Amino acid sequence: MEGLSELRALAYRSNLLGADRRIANWGGGNTSSKLEETDHTGRSMRVLRVKGSGTDLATIEPVGFSGLRLDELLVLEGRDAMADADMVDHLLRSGVDPGQPRPSIETLLHAFVPASHVDHTHPDAVIALTCAPGGRRLAEEAFGDEAEWVDWVRPGFALSKLIAERVRGRPSVRFVMLEKHGLVTWGDSGEESYRRTLEAVERSHAALAEHGSRRPFGASCARALDLNGRRELLVQAMPVLRGALSRERHHVLQLDTSDEVLEFLAGEDSRRLSQVGAACPDHLVNTKSNPLWVDWSGEEGEELVGALRRGEEEYERWYRDYYERHLDDETRPFAIDPPGPRVTLMPGLGMITSGTNATKADVTSQLYHRAIEVIRLAAAVSDFTSLSQAEAFAVEYWPLERYKLTLARPPRELDGRVALVTGAASGIGRACAEALVAAGAHVALADRNAEGAEETAAAIAAHEGDRRALALAMDVTDEAAVERAFAETVLAWGGVDIVVSSAGLASAASIEETTAAVWDRNFDVLGRGYFTVAREAVKIMRRQGIGGSIVFVGSKNALAAGKGAAAYSAAKAAELHLARCIAEEVGADGIRVNTVNPDAVVQGSGIFSSEWRRDRAAGYGIDPSQLEEHYRKRTTLGVSIQPEDVAQAVLLLASDRLAKSTGNILNVDGGIAAAYPR
Ligand code: ZN
Repeated sequence: MEGLSELRALAYRSNLLGADRRIANWGGGNTSSKLEETDHTGRSMRVLRVKGSGTDLATIEPVGFSGLRLDELLVLEGRDAMADADMVDHLLRSGVDPGQPRPSIETLLHAFVPASHVDHTHPDAVIALTCAPGGRRLAEEAFGDEAEWVDWVRPGFALSKLIAERVRGRPSVRFVMLEKHGLVTWGDSGEESYRRTLEAVERSHAALAEHGSRRPFGASCARALDLNGRRELLVQAMPVLRGALSRERHHVLQLDTSDEVLEFLAGEDSRRLSQVGAACPDHLVNTKSNPLWVDWSGEEGEELVGALRRGEEEYERWYRDYYERHLDDETRPFAIDPPGPRVTLMPGLGMITSGTNATKADVTSQLYHRAIEVIRLAAAVSDFTSLSQAEAFAVEYWPLERYKLTLARPPRELDGRVALVTGAASGIGRACAEALVAAGAHVALADRNAEGAEETAAAIAAHEGDRRALALAMDVTDEAAVERAFAETVLAWGGVDIVVSSAGLASAASIEETTAAVWDRNFDVLGRGYFTVAREAVKIMRRQGIGGSIVFVGSKNALAAGKGAAAYSAAKAAELHLARCIAEEVGADGIRVNTVNPDAVVQGSGIFSSEWRRDRAAGYGIDPSQLEEHYRKRTTLGVSIQPEDVAQAVLLLASDRLAKSTGNILNVDGGIAAAYPR
């Protein structure tokens, strides 16, 4: 394909635009080039290469662009109107490659603008200029007849035609400004188009700066909360909000306490400004038109929790009403999104965004940063205005925007869930963490071996993204460390749904040789440690009010008497009974507590790399290297148990598939008759 190097140039130009989020927000904007290409029959043709729907300019590669036969698009210019569905159908039929991504919903503007290269972006400064009252006058002053102004029209056929009409035959026009939306530039070369975007952004900034003498957010009424005070309040409040947002589907939260956010939250006018509406139509499916602003005086934790609950409920009522009020024939096929806020603003504390996974919560956070910037720029000049609620709804539930949502990866069983796994650096704990992540969960990896936990987290991040795993240095016998680890987990994702207690140790000695210290150590880790972890988990799960699942990794020895390992076996029995006691106590809150009893999981085990292997082998009168085979032979099924086998049982108990099981014992030991539960 001759067009390839030009296509590379298009991808490169797009990446440059996307690298500056002040110009092209996440997933927003689109770029194109009109190229001469050869089709599969060898005929030469003009092809419009345009960004595919659901891609991001910052990272798009040549394969992210769709190719469309330009002639087949240009015949549409003769029409007066075209329904969205017909337009989409026409675009699909004009595609050059059946496997290519669906072209951007703004494709026709790229086809109709009579230039080889076209860029459409949503720069903060241009949106601010086009949504500030009096902004049009400023734009006219700053750009004269170089820019054309187009009043708000929802993207689609009509807007594409309108833009092209304003450009054609008017050589003085170099930019099109779309009210409350963005910018269109073009050029004979990709570089010319790119430079025009930068120029328009710079000149818009200059115009705003010249007239932007007002304090954008009003006087600052910042509250003096120190970092520790803020942290404590957030640890109390976040699970409450997460629980409220997760009633229908689990969501994770992302906390943002950046200076930019706190400065906005401190402004006297910010509450009003935050409720005006979205700063860009492109944000709507992620941020919704309004954030939740939490009214509280900034002192008491209980007051904050109460205000959050009330605010969230009110928000849901408002959103349901907004949905029902604006529903029409076009939007009726789309069910209402979960009605809670995606952006929650808490003066003095920070911003919390939510999503069914950490990536979505992060995108929403990034987009709201853009919103704050647009509001700041516009309000400094005069004020900030936005689309009407009806206009916002028509974009939020626009079938073409809804289509973008279907491009996300298919849902996984534990999407939106948060898990904390102890002993996660190796062996069973690590396998459990990996299995939970593979099922969609976000996992805090707690281990005494901080380095090992970091390593596991890095391995997970490499294929699942940074925000899916969190390494925590934690010794289960250190009560303060356990509390801290749960607080960190709450601050990372808003709460916890699944706790897997897998931290372990083992000792083998005859009863006379078992020292009190060895006895205490076993009970410290397997008794007290499991108790502390479960207690902290229950506190958070109850605050969330959406149930939860706690899984203890027990041992065959909890049921079958372990000869020569009295301390370990007795501690494991205590652990097992602890699980049943807690199960009985928390069941009414939908929290389940179950135990998985493995046996002889040698591979990857921290325990078996220690003296335990030597001691056990000596106990059986065999060489340490024969231990695996010895264990395999004594099982009913004649199998060796791997960490992954245990992880599958843990996953089952953690998931909703065993939603009606609690106080259970599930063996993963290959069958040891003496340890069959009875
Ligand atoms: Zn746009």
